[in-house]
Parts: sequence; structure tokens; C-alpha cells
Amino acid sequence: MSDSLLYIVSTPIGNLGDLTPRAIEVLRQVDVIAAEDTRHSKRLMNHFGIDTPLIPCHDHNERHQAEMIVQRMGSGQSVALISDAGTPLISDPGFHLVRTVRAAGFRVVPVPGACAFIAALSVSGLPTDRFYFEGFLPAKGTARRKRIDSLATFPNTWGVYESPHRIMDLMDDLVTVLGGEKYITLAREITKTFETVLAGTVAEVQAILKADSNQQRGEFVVLVEGYKEPENSEISPEVEKMLQRLMEELPIKKAASVVADLTGLRKKELYDLGLVMRSGE
Ligand code: SAM
Repeated sequence: MSDSLLYIVSTPIGNLGDLTPRAIEVLRQVDVIAAEDTRHSKRLMNHFGIDTPLIPCHDHNERHQAEMIVQRMGSGQSVALISDAGTPLISDPGFHLVRTVRAAGFRVVPVPGACAFIAALSVSGLPTDRFYFEGFLPAKGTARRKRIDSLATFPNTWGVYESPHRIMDLMDDLVTVLGGEKYITLAREITKTFETVLAGTVAEVQAILKADSNQQRGEFVVLVEGYKEPENSEISPEVEKMLQRLMEELPIKKAASVVADLTGLRKKELYDLGLVMRSGE
């Protein structure tokens, strides 16, 4: 085992005060800093008077850079990896680098700090004893809804990263797949000037975003309450009647979706019931 180290250094997700003293010290002391976007990170380094050379390490050159970094470490250099914001490897590059460096027998040392998902979770008011991080959902609508559907019965808090371009589409998809009554927390612009945390049903949060386009700007973490088995999973005769009546006017899928919105019951459960009712007609 050599003395050369690879440090995985978290940087701020907005507020520059979140760069820890240890991170500053490490970034000053290493021989080179591998950065996702060197121009972006140069500004952060200038702010803290850090003049360590920066080399690019991003999705498109990471495998090659990993080999180069192992060579540097073999000649006694220590290296720090940073991403544009937050903790490297968390929806950011670094996985191949860490693997390669560890496989070559060098130590990889975490220098922890900000991570948007953990920051959002900590203020969400949702259970945090167990949780699941989905990262970014697929960009295409159908794939995204499929993925949300696969998480619909996940029993613990789960969450995603989302960009301003897709936040309203995500709200629509959450309503479509999970129903408007699902409880969520949306954390926007954490640690920045317009930091906002909205908690409520998807329908409520969606209405706030619709009413104020400023609320659609910035960076988002969306956390979703885990699925709870309904106390009495029997669908009441009234709901059954409502579904029956709607199915006379609408396709089963649409009827199930409307009833899910109105009752908070799972669309899938209502859809399955609709299929059974239709087959018995
Ligand atoms: N590695 C980063 C981390 O540790 O959080 C995440 C990088 S990922 C490429 C960027 C996404 O993280 C954004 O699209 C947004 O969903 C989320 N994010 C980053 N900064 C944020 C902030 N200040 N407030 C809310 N979400 C943020």
C-alpha cells in the first residue's frame, strides 16, 4: 500500500460556507484536483485561494483519467476528486475512478460534506430510518412513469433529483401514477437564497408550483412517502359503484385514475378491480 491517497471531497451545493475546513486543507495539499468541470471549479478554488492544478474528470473521459491518476499515484502523488456540487459519485462521476484506484491498491479517503439528497431528507419530515435514493428518473415520459410505478409500493421514503425543465412533468407523472393524495416533500435551491421546502400532497405541491412560476426554477430534490398498506385494503362498495359508473363512460385505465385521485386508493388496485368487473359483465 502506497502513501498516495485519493480523496473524495464534497463541495458546497450553494452556500460556500459549506466547504469544510478539512476539505480546504486537503484541496490545498494534494498534487492535483480532478474536477468534473475545471472552469466551474476554478471559481470555487479562486474564492478559497486554492491554487492546486485542476485536471478534468467527467463522464466522457473518466475511464482514461482513472488510468492516468493511478500512474500519478504510483509516482507518489495524492489526488482529490470533486464534482460541480455536493458529494462526488452521488449522481456525479467518480465510480470508475474509485474502483480503478482501489483495485490498484491505493487508499480512497472520504472528505464528507454537502449532499442535496441527504440535506433534503433531513428537513423533509418524512421517515428517515430507511430510505431509497433513485437519482435522476429517465427523461422520457413513458420510461419515467414506469419507473415511478415500480416504486409505488416501496414501503420507505424514496426520492429523486430533478431539473427545472422537468419538474412540472414529474408532478404530472406522480399524480398519474401515485394519485394526487400521495404525500411528498419538495426541496428547492437548498442552502441558496431562494431555498424552499414544500410539504403536502402531490396535488397541493403541484398547485403551488402552477400558481407561481418562480417555484419552478432552480434545483430540486423530490421525496415521496413510502407506501402504506391501507388499513382495510377492501375497496368499499361505494368506491366500487363509482368505478362501475365511470367505466360506463371512460376506458378502465382512465376510470381507475379518476377514482384513485378522488379516493387516494392505488390506481393499480382499482385498475385490476376494473378488469375483474369488466370480465364478469
Ligand atoms: N452530487 C450532488 C449531491 O451530492 O447532491 C448531486 C449532483 S446532481 C448532477 C445535481 C442534482 O442534485 C440537481 O439536478 C438537483 O436535483 C440536486 N441538487 C443539487 N444542488 C441542489 C440544491 N442546492 N437544492 C436542491 N437540489 C439540488
